[in-house]
Formats: sequence, structure tokens, C-alpha cells
Amino acid sequence: MEHPINILERYWKYTSFKPTQEAIINAVIEGEDTFALLPTGGGKSLCFQIPALAKKGICIVISPLIALMKDQVQQLNNKGIKAMALTSGISYNELDILLDNCVYGNYKFLYLSPERLQQELVQDRIKLMNVNLIAVDEAHCISQWGSDFRPAYKNITILRQLQPAVNVIALTASAKPEVIEDITKALDFIQPKVFKQSFFRANLAYMVYHEDDKYYRIETILKKYKASSIIYVRNRKLTSEVSSFLASKNISATYYHGGLSNIEKDTNMMQWVNNQKQVMVATNAFGMGIDKPDVKTVIHLNLPESIESYFQEAGRVGRNGDKAFAVILKNNSDEILVKNQFLKVLPTVDFVKQVYRKLCSYFQVSYGEGEYITNDFDFNTFCKTYNFSGILAYNALLLLDRNSVITLSKQFKNKVTVQFIISSPAIFNYLETHQELNLIVKSMLRMYGGIFDHKTKINTLKVAQKASVNESKLIQALTQLEKDQIITLHLGKTDAQITFIQLREDDKTINRISTIIEQQNKLKQQQVKSMLDYIENDTVCKSMQLLAYFGEKDIKPCGICSVCIGAKKNDRPQDINIIKKRIIELLKNGDLSSRLISSTLNCSEKDVKVVLKLLLEHNMITITQTNTYKLKN
Ligand code: ADP
Ligand code: MG
Repeated sequence: MEHPINILERYWKYTSFKPTQEAIINAVIEGEDTFALLPTGGGKSLCFQIPALAKKGICIVISPLIALMKDQVQQLNNKGIKAMALTSGISYNELDILLDNCVYGNYKFLYLSPERLQQELVQDRIKLMNVNLIAVDEAHCISQWGSDFRPAYKNITILRQLQPAVNVIALTASAKPEVIEDITKALDFIQPKVFKQSFFRANLAYMVYHEDDKYYRIETILKKYKASSIIYVRNRKLTSEVSSFLASKNISATYYHGGLSNIEKDTNMMQWVNNQKQVMVATNAFGMGIDKPDVKTVIHLNLPESIESYFQEAGRVGRNGDKAFAVILKNNSDEILVKNQFLKVLPTVDFVKQVYRKLCSYFQVSYGEGEYITNDFDFNTFCKTYNFSGILAYNALLLLDRNSVITLSKQFKNKVTVQFIISSPAIFNYLETHQELNLIVKSMLRMYGGIFDHKTKINTLKVAQKASVNESKLIQALTQLEKDQIITLHLGKTDAQITFIQLREDDKTINRISTIIEQQNKLKQQQVKSMLDYIENDTVCKSMQLLAYFGEKDIKPCGICSVCIGAKKNDRPQDINIIKKRIIELLKNGDLSSRLISSTLNCSEKDVKVVLKLLLEHNMITITQTNTYKLKN
């Protein structure tokens, strides 16, 4: 068998493993059930890819997102490794052929979603495959305590029955103890080898600042550190707003959100990746798969929904090991904003019932029918028809999707309208210097008579065929024409498709998932609360707070976060009151010795003793038999 390091060098051109990668890979190769807990960007993919390449046979990878699967398959294919993903929209016949390829065709990786795994044909074929490893990526989706809970993930154990001799590796960046326990149970791990890398990042300074004028503060930060930066904001509109604000202050910036066209996304992202633009202002849609090493600051202008998200977004700084900053700017309005944004939009069970019933009547699905019926879906009309709030209805549909009542396809089709805004002689003039657009322009003029007079909906596929280009080339050309003020262009997005997966049984259908809905809502509330606690708690080191959330305990103060720095500044006798407040906060979590108190708070032991004496005198604390200090109730 080839040595893992050779495989690493040959296919990835890396010369050494990242911390814990090698230990994980060895355990997997030895046939152990393995649990890999590494932070995002820690290099989890290699932990199953290399063992799979080292052995004969095929590795089955369960992954929650089509985009993630496609990305990894593409990367493997680029290295000349045979891999495929069973994405949605594959016909039964195609599926049959693809699966045959996995049985007989020397494929090394088969990626599929947990939902796809439920299909009988898929299960039958997996039985026939020479499987060398089962990898469950983003394994936290198994847990109700994880933010991306997907009930279908619970059924992954079926793979154990199909391939009883094969070992399993679970991979996740979410290390909350409850989540780990759920994963262990759901995957039938009996004695897994658990590898957990500490999430501590020594070069990363977590900062939380109260700031009434946030814009002014980002300007100051970005002028002080003239290096690559990401600013996270609450909504799409703010991305362009903040980006323009920065530009007006001579700080180069671009923006990114889920509503941009693919071309805009790529362009803006590349400008940032290549450092043509210093700052990327983005919603949380930005970041997956971003591996830019030299990001110096990540600034949150608005609060994320959970510590998990925050840790991931903040973790995009300082990958090169240089000192880097993760800053949250907060003020008094944030608590209300964050509750409005994340809690008020949670659909109740009753609301989900309503939406489901209306959805059935909208598509005239009768009681007891509806399985595998697909419909084109115009979301806005649906909401208007029944007077639903868009965001609440959307979240209700997502819930139905996650719980396998429906599937919501997000394959938006482009709806494109064009109008020519200059005269035809002027167009011919223009074309003389833009020969490459000649055929496209003339095709449109020939196909659409009124295109000078009004906005005309064009069929991009037909125009592209006529002009012998592909559709994305056509869209590029149209964008160019718009920029040169030859046409006005509207690149709209039309609607999604909905497939009913279960028979319509009205409330009964929803009752089956009602505890899940309630539990997920409760989780969201806890997550927001933890986020608020994090920004409010300015007595315990920020790194320690974050790591405690992920179940890590034996951590020392980082010495560089806003709390630690504040403590250094405040560490003078006249700040007795502050030390007092911080000690009380600290003792709420349990009894401590004076030495531990002073090391945790980063204060001198002398000052701590002075304050402890005061607290004892005021009867606010007592000393225990083991010489620790205890808070009196
Ligand atoms: P994760 O799934 O843990 O978030 P990935 O597997 O996507 O992380 O890897 C993150 C990045 O680190 C990728 O660009 C990957 O190629 C790179 N990487 C992984 N292992 C190594 C290594 N041993 N040396 C250098 N880079 C690595
Ligand atoms: Mg990954």
C-alpha cells in the first residue's frame, strides 16, 4: 500500500500534513471508526480522501449540500481521480448507469446526500460495491443540537447494514458536546477513535467594542491595518451601502451577497482574492470554501445568529499565522435587531400547518395524494395570494424541505429582458469596433422586432444557439452591451420548483415533525442568547468564552483579546470596582482559588487578594475548606 505522504505529495503537491491529519488518516487506514473534529479549514477532506486512495475500492461520502459535493468532485477530477456526485435532477435511467459505474468502473469516490441514500436502487447498488470507507462529512447535521439539523441524516446507519465490514469516519467542525454525543449514537460508533484539535487560535485577537458610530470605527480600523478584510453585514442592501461608504473614504471595497448574478459574484470575489480590492463587504452567504491566507481583519457590523456561525466567519482571518483581528462592533440597538432578524422569523408549528395546507390547495393536491408531484413555483404570487409574510413563509418552506415533506429546488431560470437604446446606425458603428458581439446583436435584432421600442423578453437559449455561443457567453456579452450603453438589460430570476414527497395528510403530516420544529426554534433562541452573552460578557477572556462554548476547558487567557487588553490597562489599584465585578462574574461559574482567579482575569494576585478581602468583609463570598472562594447566594 502506498504511504499517505506519497499520496499527499503526488495529488496535492503538499509536503507535510496539518496537525492531527496524519493520526486521523492512520486510524482510518487501520479500519477504525474515526471521529475527526477539526476547525473549518483544518483540512478534513484529506482525512478520508487519502485513506480511500491508499486502498482498493470506492469511498462513499455523505454530504449535505450539492454545492459542496460538486466542488469536491471537481477538485478530485482535476487531479485525475475518478469521482462522482449523485446530485438532484438525475433521471432513473441516468442513476442506474452512474451507479453501475461505481460498481464496475474504478470510481474512487461516490458523493451523495442522505436523502438520496434512502432510495432503494441506491441501496441495492451500494451493496454490490467494493466499498473501502464510509465518510460522513458535516456530521453535525445529524444532531438536533446542531444548527443544520437534517432528519434524513439520522438514517445514515443504513450504510452499516449494507456494508457491515466497512469503517466509518465522521467529520465536523462543530464540537459542542451534545452534538458529539448525537453523532456517536446515530452512527453506531462503539469505540471510535476521536481526534479533536483544539479550536484555540493563538494569533487571533477577538475584539468586541461598543461603538455608536460604527462606520467611523471601521474606517479607522481599515486605515490602521491596510490589509485584506471582510466585513459582515446583516442584509444585501447594506453590502453595497457600506462598500460605497468605504470607497468614499478611499478604501477600496467590493461586495457580495446571494442575490448577485454568478458573473457579479465571480468578478467581485476575484477582485478581493487578488487584492485589487482591500475589503469584501458581504452577507453570511460569503465565505464557504474561501481559503485566503492573508485576511487581516474580519469585522462584524451586525451580529451573527450563533456562536457557531461567528466562530466560522471570524476564523477566516489569519490563516497564514500572522496576528489577525476578529472584531464585533456593537451598540444598544443590536439586541433588538438580532432578535428581529433571527427570532421573529421562526415559524410556529401552527404557521407551518397553514403554509402546508395553502401549498396543497395552491397546487390542487387533494387529501391522500401528492407524492412525487413536481410544480413550478412562483413564491411571490403564493405569498400574495394568501397574505403570507415572505420571510416567514420562506422559512416554513425550508422547514418542510429539511424534513422531507417537500423539496424546494433552487434552480432558478434566468428571465432576461433587453431593449436597444441607440439608433441602428449607431449600433453598426459600435459593432465595427466590437466584432465579437456582431453575431449576438444581429441575432437579437432579427429575432425580436420591437426590441428598439420596448423591453423585450428574450429566450437566452435560442439567441445563444443562433449566435453559436453558450448561454454564459451570451450573458457576458449582454452585460458588456449594457455597460457600453447600447442596451438596457434586466437579468431577473424566476421561480423555483416544488416537489411534494409525502402524501397530503394536512395537519397529520406536520404533526409528525412538530417536535422537531419546536426543538429547532428553541435551539435558535438559545443560540441568539449565547451570542448576546458573548458580546456582553467583558470579564472573561473572549477566546476562553468561545472555546468554553465548544466544550474546551483548560484554556489560559489569550492575552490579546479585548477583555485581556482591557484587563491589562485596568490592572491598577484604582480599578478595584472593575476587578470586583469581574471576580463576581467568574465565581458564578464555580469556586476558584485566588491564584486561578488572578490568572484567569489577568490581574496581579495582590490586587485580587485586596478585592477578595473586601468581598469577604461584605459577606458576599466565603472561603471553602480547600481554600477556594465561593459566592454566597
Ligand atoms: P475543512 O473541510 O476542514 O474545512 P478542507 O478539507 O476544505 O478543510 O481544507 C481546507 C484547505 O486546506 C484546502 O485548501 C486544502 O487543500 C488545504 N489543506 C489540507 N491539507 C493540507 C496540508 N496538509 N497542507 C497544506 N494545505 C492543506
Ligand atoms: Mg469540509
